[in-house]
Amino acid sequence: MTIEYEMPLYRPPSEAHSLILQATIGCTHNRCAFCVAYQSKQFRVRPEKEIFAEIDWAAEEMPDTRRVFLADGDAFALSPQKMVNILDHLYRRFPDLERVTAYASPHNFKSRSVDDIRPVRQAGLTMLYFGLESGDDEILKRIDKNTTCEKMIASCQKAHDAGFDLSVTVILGLAGPQGSKRHAEATAKALDRIRPKYIAALTLMLAPRSPAYPEVYGDPDWRVLDPVETLREIRVLLCNMHADGITFRSNHASNYLALKGNLQKDKQKLIEIIDTALNDPNSPLLKPECLRAL
Ligand code: SF4
Repeated sequence: MTIEYEMPLYRPPSEAHSLILQATIGCTHNRCAFCVAYQSKQFRVRPEKEIFAEIDWAAEEMPDTRRVFLADGDAFALSPQKMVNILDHLYRRFPDLERVTAYASPHNFKSRSVDDIRPVRQAGLTMLYFGLESGDDEILKRIDKNTTCEKMIASCQKAHDAGFDLSVTVILGLAGPQGSKRHAEATAKALDRIRPKYIAALTLMLAPRSPAYPEVYGDPDWRVLDPVETLREIRVLLCNMHADGITFRSNHASNYLALKGNLQKDKQKLIEIIDTALNDPNSPLLKPECLRAL
């Protein structure tokens, strides 16, 4: 046998060298306006038997596996007991396994207490990738995130209290040029309160199946930010962040400018890189439009 992935398959850039296992298919919410990732899929939990068979096969073929990423969009929707069963099997079959990670959506935390999710952390799910997207409630409403910033901060607090590391994603350009500053400032404020281990800034790209954004925003003048506006937005975000000890990255394929550094230690250096690119629109630091991808 082999692992038969149900496509399309997505993973965070930092999981490029991880074994990917689809514990679930699709996303329970599947409505965020900017996200077309799982539009073709109906959310379902895969039978434990199928997942265990793939783990057993991979354990024979790739016995040195150290990292596993549980897909799809919010594998953390699985019941804590099912997650613990999968994690126990993974750590039993891969003796060198160091970390297992998964996407988590705000909806996964709604009816769960810290005590509910702690056993999952103790069984070896080490980090959750959490999509904050924006710290501004009006923007969250427009993109149909179906939650508020305050509720997402509370979800992240639960995750931290249970012992999980967090990698939080935000999306540059979500609010168009008019709302850019507001989006960046509110997002910085929320990130300062969450204090995740990692922050990943992605840049909005519209896919052919994306909804009409001017309608999403109720603003006929809404448009995608150009590279300079995007750099200004990320600059506002960084300037307004004060929390310490966070790794900040914008190295996703969608970004115009790849940044990586530690906040606050490298903040000034990151801002200088942004300013260098802002002063020279032809800077080799900037990724050409044709090389960007979702
Ligand atoms: S919760 Fe995540 S995976 Fe689901 S639609 Fe929103 S962004 Fe996409």
